[in-house]
Amino acid sequence: MDEWSRFLQAMEELKLLLEAVGGGEYCCLRHGLPYLRPSLLARQAFCEMQVELMLRRGVEKIVYRDERLLVEAILEARRHLVKAPSRPRIAISIPLAALVDSVPMLGRPDALLVEKGRIVGLVRLKIGSNRVSRSDLVRLYSYGLIVDYSPLPSKENLNLLLVIANSKTDAIGKLQALKQAFEENKPLYRVEGVHSFAYDRGYALQMLSPYLQYWVGARDLQASPSPAKCSRCELRVECPLHPVDQVSDQQ
Ligand code: SF4
Repeated sequence: MDEWSRFLQAMEELKLLLEAVGGGEYCCLRHGLPYLRPSLLARQAFCEMQVELMLRRGVEKIVYRDERLLVEAILEARRHLVKAPSRPRIAISIPLAALVDSVPMLGRPDALLVEKGRIVGLVRLKIGSNRVSRSDLVRLYSYGLIVDYSPLPSKENLNLLLVIANSKTDAIGKLQALKQAFEENKPLYRVEGVHSFAYDRGYALQMLSPYLQYWVGARDLQASPSPAKCSRCELRVECPLHPVDQVSDQQ
């Protein structure tokens, strides 16, 4: 079996896993969540109390797109990719599912970079501040873990790419430049606006395990309010950790 056939076969396995994870077969995490998404972990990295408050309000506020649409996205991608691509390097966008140390996770990076039937990198686009925050890294490495633990063949040292743009137009230009550099096998870190990180499974697990422990009930909520965070938190009015006088200061 050639590399591309193996990739397509792995997409079949991915579809089954996506159906199982999305359908709640591995339920339940804290608050009855069927699976975790990188966006939720990124929010948790900002403030765990904020996640807790949102979940107390109702799960639907932060969860989730219909998993049937995600499965359909896999099927659609597979239909398009049924023939081996004429170029050795292509960029695709599909949803992924994985069990990361038994924790069901689901996510869709903005792009996956595929070379000869193996994922060699992933792309996350951020429009806004050009500062790389802890939440950005948690989200990026969460995607890395999902790729690593998913059925799809991937390179050991994945390239995690964060593209920071200041507008949608800027984002389109930077993503196109990145795609072109990848297809031409040029260094991706040299593309303007691209921040490149090398994925390492041990490092990623070390970074994310404190967050995952919360979801499997291995520890209690650990709040870490700070004036800088609380002042821009949309839930500060209802947060018991945010003093009322600080609330009024912000209004
Ligand atoms: S007000 Fe502060 S402690 Fe409370 S949820 Fe927001 S960021 Fe977290």
